[in-house]
Amino acid sequence: MSHVGIDRIESARDRIAGLIRHTPVEASASLSRIAGHPVHLKFEHQQFTGSFKLRGATNAVGRLTDAERARGVTGASTGNHGRALAFAARRAGVRCVICMSALVPKNKVEAIAAEGAEIRIVGRSQDDAQEEVDRLVAEEGMVMVPPFDDARVIAGQGTLGLELLEDVPDIRVALVQLSGGGLIAGVAAALKARNPDIRVIGITMRRGAAMHASLAAGKPTFVEELPTLADSLGGGIGLRNRHTFDMVRDLVDEVVLLDEDEIADGVRHAYWQERQVVEGGGVVGISALLHGHVRPDGPTAAILTGASIDMHLHHRLISGENVDLMQEAG
Ligand SMILES: *Cc1c(COP(=O)(O)O)cnc(C)c1O
Repeated sequence: MSHVGIDRIESARDRIAGLIRHTPVEASASLSRIAGHPVHLKFEHQQFTGSFKLRGATNAVGRLTDAERARGVTGASTGNHGRALAFAARRAGVRCVICMSALVPKNKVEAIAAEGAEIRIVGRSQDDAQEEVDRLVAEEGMVMVPPFDDARVIAGQGTLGLELLEDVPDIRVALVQLSGGGLIAGVAAALKARNPDIRVIGITMRRGAAMHASLAAGKPTFVEELPTLADSLGGGIGLRNRHTFDMVRDLVDEVVLLDEDEIADGVRHAYWQERQVVEGGGVVGISALLHGHVRPDGPTAAILTGASIDMHLHHRLISGENVDLMQEAG
């Protein structure tokens, strides 16, 4: 429907300044050698709560009216967005209810509870949890903050693009994770407002690439979700998508799909070469460079988007084990 423009991203930056970390950018010697051009990594996995999702959540909470603040925020995300929303709400003194199904693993429930959210366990599926969110919105006037398809969230994620322009002023290529598209929509809007020639490449896993399938079909499309090392890139884009489908179609130059062993190599490279613990969904820019899926024609930036990886899984990966989560899921 409508694009989120640079003006909304700039006002998001002012709104969330001081509440999020301006994360560091570091040059990678080994990736620069492989790419033949300088490669910069943005250490966004060092953001508070462990991912960039805090940017969008903080902007959304910051835009609540006084009446909305009094009623609180809600959502059904059990991953990085849920954590970020809980953190942003608690810091603002706003009630936050995260709804989830009884099937969500205990460690995820505890991580979100630890950020101060009220947890409501309902039913046995994500749909059941979403129904409870819809009820809280309809009956109690709570404000739902969705993980990606929301102008406030996209504008918040776009502030990461403004930081990239500041820290890598000669950037030519941006390698950006692509799932629901909130991150890449905001970042592409910011970068292309400065210079439309900056190439923005979306990177995701082959297993369950919903936005990629939707672009190919010309409309939001359902794709089955499968176990993947890049779990924070899983999930659909919403059949009634309002913003991110159009923005990704119009602003993203190319989409790269990765196999599981390529994602595993990215986790290993991040650890052994860059000395960073990064989750599967966070390393895909590294993976794409390592495996020659993108050919930079100038200074390149990749974003390490998150740190939420099970440390036992991380240990197995960096020890060189071949891990196939599809097989392990049976
Ligand atoms: C949510 C998330 C993404 C994908 O962001 P979208 O806005 O859904 O495309 C990438 N990496 C991490 C770590 C995430 O939590």
